[in-house]
Amino acid sequence: MMHVAVTLDELRSKRAKMSGVFGLVPTMGALHEGHAALIRRARVECDHVGVSIFVNPSQFSSKEDLSQYPKPISRDLEMLLALGVDLVWTPTNDIVYPPDFQTWVTVEQVSRPLEGAARPGHFRGVATVVAKLFNAFQPQRAYFGQKDAQQVVVIRQMIRDLNFPIELIVCETLREPDGLAMSSRNVRLSSEQRKAASILYRALSLAKSMFHSGESDANALRDAMRHLIASEPLSELEYVSIAHPQSLQEIDRADSGALVSLAVRFGSTRLIDNIIL
Ligand code: AMP
Repeated sequence: MMHVAVTLDELRSKRAKMSGVFGLVPTMGALHEGHAALIRRARVECDHVGVSIFVNPSQFSSKEDLSQYPKPISRDLEMLLALGVDLVWTPTNDIVYPPDFQTWVTVEQVSRPLEGAARPGHFRGVATVVAKLFNAFQPQRAYFGQKDAQQVVVIRQMIRDLNFPIELIVCETLREPDGLAMSSRNVRLSSEQRKAASILYRALSLAKSMFHSGESDANALRDAMRHLIASEPLSELEYVSIAHPQSLQEIDRADSGALVSLAVRFGSTRLIDNIIL
C-alpha cells in the first residue's frame, strides 16, 4: 500500500503510523534508474521508505528555466508503486513556501565553490528544502546520489551543524551505456546533443587514466579535460575542477580520493558529473 500525501498534515499522520527505521529519498521527480537505485537500496536497508517529489523553485535562479523541468507525475507514481515505496509527498509550492516564508538554511564555505559559484543561491535553496523534508518525514536515514557530489558535502555539513539525527547514505552514480550519468535533464537533449554528451564521462575517465598512469599535476589534468571538451563542437564548458573531497577547494597535486568534477552546457541544457580519483 503506497500513500500519496499532498499536505503536511496528511504526510505526518501517515508517517506517524510507520515504526522502525524510516528511509527518505528526496527527488525532483522525472524519475529514472538513478533514482530507482537509491530507492531499492533504501528498501533493503529500511523498514519503510518515503520519497518526496518536489521541483524546488528556490534552488533555481531566475535565469534557469524552472518551468521547463519535466513533470511526468503519473509515470513517477507508477514507478514508485512498482518499487514498493510506502509514502510519497508531492507538496505544492505554497505548502513548502507559504507567502510569509522567511527562514533559510545557509551552509557557508562548502556551498561557495563549483556549483555554488555557477548557480548563486542554489545551495541555500537545497539546504532549506532538505531541512524541511527532514523535519516533515523525520527519517533515520536519507539517501543521496554521488552524481551531485557537492550537494552531498553540503547536506552532510548541515546534518552535523544542525544536529539532525539522520544517517546520510550516498549511492554511486548510475550511467547510460556510453557513460552519460542518468539525469532528468537528459531528455531535453537533441539526438546530436545526446551523442555529444558522452564527452563529460570521457573527460572524467581521461583524467582518471592519466592520474593512474602517474600524472599528479592537477593543472595538467584540468588542461587535458578542457582540451577534450573543446574538441566537441556542441559542448560549452562551464568549469572543470580537481578539488579536495571535503573542503571542495582546488588542489595543485591530485591525490587518491580527489573529486574531479565538471559542468558542461549543450544549448540551454546544463549537465554536471564527477568521479573520485
Ligand atoms: P534529483 O531528482 O535530480 O534532484 O535527484 C534526486 C536524487 O537522486 C539526488 O540525491 C541525486 O543525486 C540522485 N541522482 C540523480 N541522478 C542520479 C544518478 N544518475 N545516479 C545516482 N543517483 C542519482
